[in-house]
Amino acid sequence: MKKVIQLSLLFFIPIFVSAQQDLSIEYANTITTNDLHEHLNILSSDTLEGRETGERGQKMAAAYIADFFKTIELEPIVVTPAGHSYLQSFKLVKRYPGETWIKTANRTYENFEDFAFTGKTSFRQLKKSKLIFVGEGRDEDYAALNVNKKNVIIYSDGRGSERKEKVLLAREHGASEVFIIQTGDEDEFQRMMKSVKWNMKPGRLEFPANPKEVDEGYFMISMPMAKEILNTSQSNLLSAINKSKQGKYTPLIKLISQEITFYASQDVEDVSTENVLGFIEGTDKKDEYIVLTAHYDHLGIDGEEVNNGADDDGSGTVAIMEIAQAFTLAKKAGHGPRRSILFMTVTGEEKGLLGSSYYVTHPALPLESTITNLNIDMIGRIDQSHEENSDYIYLIGSDKLSRELHDVSEKVNTTYTKLELDYTYNDESDPNRFYYRSDHYNFAKNNIPIIFYFNGTHPDYHKPTDTIDKIEFELLEKRARLVFHTAWEIASREDRIAVDVTPEEMELGNSN
Ligand SMILES: [Zn+2]
Repeated sequence: MKKVIQLSLLFFIPIFVSAQQDLSIEYANTITTNDLHEHLNILSSDTLEGRETGERGQKMAAAYIADFFKTIELEPIVVTPAGHSYLQSFKLVKRYPGETWIKTANRTYENFEDFAFTGKTSFRQLKKSKLIFVGEGRDEDYAALNVNKKNVIIYSDGRGSERKEKVLLAREHGASEVFIIQTGDEDEFQRMMKSVKWNMKPGRLEFPANPKEVDEGYFMISMPMAKEILNTSQSNLLSAINKSKQGKYTPLIKLISQEITFYASQDVEDVSTENVLGFIEGTDKKDEYIVLTAHYDHLGIDGEEVNNGADDDGSGTVAIMEIAQAFTLAKKAGHGPRRSILFMTVTGEEKGLLGSSYYVTHPALPLESTITNLNIDMIGRIDQSHEENSDYIYLIGSDKLSRELHDVSEKVNTTYTKLELDYTYNDESDPNRFYYRSDHYNFAKNNIPIIFYFNGTHPDYHKPTDTIDKIEFELLEKRARLVFHTAWEIASREDRIAVDVTPEEMELGNSN
């Protein structure tokens, strides 16, 4: 049944009018290897210092792109107190774990050596207290205890998400600080401590904490340390844990720690960064929007070496710039798109898709009227499996929310660019999970059909050796033209791209 539907859809795709076809080709031809090279030569130069989010090089790249958007007369649409801007600025914080310790009468325990402190709270004052053992820290464990404004100690066999849930529950019951004994052996504890440390790594960039959110911070401690501060024997502690597991704990065994003092601090630095947005208004369907994205941020400098990010994602950024110019040239000649198009190069991708995440929560254009996102992340190189046939591009996500988008994309490629469209990474069972790993995903989460264009990885991926001399400019030009033709078709067709795949169908389709 499913296959029949797909086939019949193919027949309904309108045959492109030849005049329109010529125009599409005429403007696609303005996307040239020369222009792409000229932009990439600047964006991937050492002067831009690897374009790390919040750093000088990122700001220089933003200024360069915004200046180009102005030159080609895209409209600035971000509303600021100073008028309309190309820059959508927003705040992030950079966290550094600060002085943090736990002391008993005879010993000082150090953060990331003896225990691990995690959390978003920037500063905690010195505290002196006994800890109340609350067993597993389930709702019923709190029933006979008053932990209001007290510091509690619980245990967990589980992973980070379970620990967080327990912390939130403890705070619901009024507890202030939460200490979690990680049961399991020393190796396991060391591994977990390392992963907490990695998560808290210095200079981690994230959105500022919402003051209304309950703090999820806690101290994770080992069995031996718990035994020491609870002033008890290993067997006593194990027996308390076992009784709690059988639901027999509270308040049969009273375990209260010796008095401890503890201190945890973090240094937080404010960082500002910006997405760069340029807009072209459509004609008779101008209230429907297509968003074209690529991230222009990259990894910055490692020691002496600049991560130039020529492919990642300098290639996508310069493609967006050239595609934007092609559309503005068309518009000036009276052939502007029917639907409006937003060209957006985003920041913070390498730090966790932050720029696109900010955009979808603060959209410059209504998301309900945003009909498609075409996202480019790395289209200037050839991966190992295509060394023989380099005329290819991986497409990811094109059929996930809209079969129509997938069919349009296929048809455009057959008509114009004739690249091999490789869907290897579109398979849900592919372990790389690329669908979830670039900026389009923030649009897909909002039910906006997307296509992600990607050349696959290569040995220079996320290394200082991702440089401009390794970019295949003719291929980059061809792939950029494919995105242009696809955007042109979506912008000019009669009907808006339909969201026509339900999540259930998606599951079924992917299990085939
Ligand atoms: Zn990237």
